[in-house]
Amino acid sequence: MKYPLLAFTALCATLASPASAETIALVGGTVVDLAGKAPIRDAVVVIEDERIQAIGPRASTSVPSGARVIPMEGRWLIPGLMNMHVHLALNLPGASRIYNETPDSMVLRSLDNAQKSLHSGVTTIRLTGSDAGVDFTLKRAIDAGMFDGPRIHTAGSSIVATGGHGKTEVNGPAEFSRAVREQVKAGATWIKLGISGGISDTHGDIGASPFTDAELTTAIEVAHRNGVKVTGHTGSPIASEAAIDAGIDAFEHGYFLTPPVLRKMKQKGVWFIPTIVVSQSGAREFYRKIGSPPWYLDRVDSVGKAHIQSLRDAISAGVSIALGTDQYPYEPNEGTTATVREAEIYVDAGMTPAQALRAATIEPARMLGVDNEVGVLKPGYYADIVAVDADPTADIAALRTIGFVMKGGKVIRDDRER
Ligand SMILES: [Zn+2]
Repeated sequence: MKYPLLAFTALCATLASPASAETIALVGGTVVDLAGKAPIRDAVVVIEDERIQAIGPRASTSVPSGARVIPMEGRWLIPGLMNMHVHLALNLPGASRIYNETPDSMVLRSLDNAQKSLHSGVTTIRLTGSDAGVDFTLKRAIDAGMFDGPRIHTAGSSIVATGGHGKTEVNGPAEFSRAVREQVKAGATWIKLGISGGISDTHGDIGASPFTDAELTTAIEVAHRNGVKVTGHTGSPIASEAAIDAGIDAFEHGYFLTPPVLRKMKQKGVWFIPTIVVSQSGAREFYRKIGSPPWYLDRVDSVGKAHIQSLRDAISAGVSIALGTDQYPYEPNEGTTATVREAEIYVDAGMTPAQALRAATIEPARMLGVDNEVGVLKPGYYADIVAVDADPTADIAALRTIGFVMKGGKVIRDDRER
């Protein structure tokens, strides 16, 4: 019996080794510097296994013998993009809404959307509200190498006071603390609280603050005691103020962030994930496709102007911004993807192209607390690399030309090879 087992083990080792032990050299491209220093032209990026091993000009950086060389002439290399507000099994009101969807259907849709997201250049995502634990299942499968997909950070199921904008409805501090602990136990590394109403709600006032102070404070305290950060879906200045006072770490959407709220956010280091694409004209194509009802489109229109003003004010107030879309990262939007369009609108709203690129890479990594692993191209970091055909720090629209995607040293896409 011993020999067949040994042979089987050896076979497994052989099968597993090519992807993980390969040395790759990306040669001749320009490596963009996110800190504002000059780019490295005619660069060599050496990747061993999952990580960047060396990076520098060709003149001083040798290509290891036996490395697989991928020519990068005419291409600009940047870190893989990061999208901090994603639902992989989005199911909005409209003609195409799926009623009573089963978890197995959700997980398959999520996997498909995760793979399309990665292919579009997004190598890390944060999930801000999933159902039935499918996010944890998917994350484990991707982390185990069963399927290609972006790195996943997830908030599990979003927690709200009964009738609020979210899935897990609870009441009173005791139920809030239990709900937070259950998500953490299931694997959540964030907690998402629906501290105000949402655009897609059919009831309630988006500007209200339905949590009691005790509910808010308890939920945040329990999360923090477990080393987990908390973000709030907010369309309400009153709810935002209360949540900042309770110690929240981030806000999603911020359709109506007033200057006093923004000042407080800046002062307390609260992050802002704008998801600006959902309320702007580029999303029209999407809403038409899913057959959104007229009341929904009216709501989108009514918040659109206030939303972009919030974003402009947040940028000028110097609030830390991490890119997120609330649409599938790859969703078509104005001739590109929602992720790229989101970054473009940041520039329209006052960021420099370099700042918008940081909001799509190193800033999310900082917010997640993984800026020692991803978000920059440096030796020791995961080789999550995207290549574009022009300098995105000169014009953010260069992100429209993504033609190469690598995650953890594995080439996911190279349009030049086709
Ligand atoms: Zn959302």
